[in-house]
Amino acid sequence: MSECVFCDIVEGKIPAKIAHRDDEIVAFHDAGPQAPTHILVVPVRHVASVGEAVEADAGLLGRMLLVCKDLAAREGVAARGYRIVTNTGRGAGQSVFQLHFHLLGGRDMGWPPG
Ligand SMILES: [Zn+2]
Repeated sequence: MSECVFCDIVEGKIPAKIAHRDDEIVAFHDAGPQAPTHILVVPVRHVASVGEAVEADAGLLGRMLLVCKDLAAREGVAARGYRIVTNTGRGAGQSVFQLHFHLLGGRDMGWPPG
């Protein structure tokens, strides 16, 4: 096991319900869902957070958003609306220090988020 639980999921060392996988991006259902649809979209390569991303990651970050869009459509939550969240740093609620986008859908959302 590495020190990063999401890298372990990407590498198949920890089981998860995989929703998408390609050369750059893996998506899997959150083990503690906060909405009827709650999928985590992560890069295959370890990047700690948006705060660690660099110019060369621009394409990766854009493709992660497009994976979120495609998953929202596939999960049937696109028409109602969905939320894509990434927490950056402990104070923002980041608890796993591997960049991940939360795709949340299937219920109405409040604003602002807590
Ligand atoms: Zn990682």
